[in-house]
Amino acid sequence: MFLRRNLWRSGLRSEVQLRELLRRGLSSASPSLPPFDHQPRPYKGMLADEVLEKRKKFLGPSLFYYYQKPLNIVEGKMQYLYDETGKRYLDAFAGIVTVSCGHCHPDVVNAVVEQSQLLQHTTTIYLHHVIVEFAEALASKMPGNLKVVYFVNSGTEANELAMLMARMYTGNLGMIALRNAYHGGSAGTIGLTALHTWKYPIPQGEIHHVMNPDPYRGAFGSDAARYAKEVEDHINYGTSGNVAGFIAETFQGVGGAVELAPGYLKLVYDIVRKSGGVCIADEVQSGFGRTGSHYWGFETQGVIPDIVTMAKGIGNGLPLGAVVTTPEIASVMSKRIQFNTFGGNPVCSAGGLAVLKVLDKEKRQAHCADVGFQLIDRLRTLQQKHDIIGDVRGRGLMLGVELVSDKDKTPAKAEAAVLFEKLKDLGVLVGKGGLHGNVFRIKPPMCFTKQDADFLVDALDYAISRL
Ligand code: PMP
Repeated sequence: MFLRRNLWRSGLRSEVQLRELLRRGLSSASPSLPPFDHQPRPYKGMLADEVLEKRKKFLGPSLFYYYQKPLNIVEGKMQYLYDETGKRYLDAFAGIVTVSCGHCHPDVVNAVVEQSQLLQHTTTIYLHHVIVEFAEALASKMPGNLKVVYFVNSGTEANELAMLMARMYTGNLGMIALRNAYHGGSAGTIGLTALHTWKYPIPQGEIHHVMNPDPYRGAFGSDAARYAKEVEDHINYGTSGNVAGFIAETFQGVGGAVELAPGYLKLVYDIVRKSGGVCIADEVQSGFGRTGSHYWGFETQGVIPDIVTMAKGIGNGLPLGAVVTTPEIASVMSKRIQFNTFGGNPVCSAGGLAVLKVLDKEKRQAHCADVGFQLIDRLRTLQQKHDIIGDVRGRGLMLGVELVSDKDKTPAKAEAAVLFEKLKDLGVLVGKGGLHGNVFRIKPPMCFTKQDADFLVDALDYAISRL
């Protein structure tokens, strides 16, 4: 009766809506996941404890896992994941910003299955139509003269190749990268990466790490010109005056969703080019429309790089990466044979082509802008309520929430760890980033809805309120 009377007064259309309102505002019950029409298959496989035991025995001890009691995820559908018990989770991290279209998107699965049944592998020593179709589709997404595509298997490989191209093309050795960057973990790219937690103590190559133009924590705030001057000084004082290249993520991923100070790339690209270097944009995380406002992260800064690297979202989970450059830069690579056994593999190419088509067909860039706008807005409102939220940043579905314990921005490491577990218990899986692990990274599959966004914010509010 009470429910009906209120329903009538509020002019709401259904009892469901009122119940939702009551659930959110009046009751202290925990927020619940938006409804979703998918029944996971009963799981009869190995359980978490046994998987963990075998993993410890047979996989390297350097592997880390999330959560005190790690999750055994056995099924995925669009923006949701299911554990061994059938419990559903909202996936707000997309397998580390990789599942772009959605888990097991039918178009991608079909493309992979169809190609696998016909031909799985030959390498580029023979012709195959799907490789060139994919390369053409990818090139059509690039601005300027970025028209030559190299396929590789991962982001690390893509950045290795980009660095090699920069050195070959310019005849210089020195590379400039940003502090707080992540570009890979191979013997070469580990030198570009600039977070000590990911760097083994081996020779790092001739790499110079310049100040990070981080609007929240950086010494010069959002003053792009001062950071750019630092780059110029670094080249003049710390190198021969000539460099091979500059590499940056426009939105630092592993570093904790840091969007570079506006205008920075334009200034620095000019400085680097004057010093003989080429400019590389690492789009491994920020590409394919995720930022909402643009298809590529670098476009948010109004620049055109000389080399673009990509991986993760390009394959929706397939092992796939790519480097796109100009014919002029590509031509120097023909001085030797540049070969990659799986680069352009028909199965991965068919999957990658399907990803591009899905993102266009489902207008995912516009969707990221739309949902991201609401999500950022609600997170900023939450920031007003809880002092622990020091910063809310990013664009589209490429967001970061930085947790701090005081006005001096001391990273709230312990609290972040507690909230991280609580969110998981509530059914939300976010990522962690930044040197201190105090930034929640919200980078879900791009089919994430406004209802999902509301649920995520409600869950965060609920968890913080009970810290
Ligand atoms: N660049 C960026 C921006 C990344 O985030 C990553 C992976 N986290 C890489 C490169 C390396 O990619 P991969 O793990 O596929 O080698």
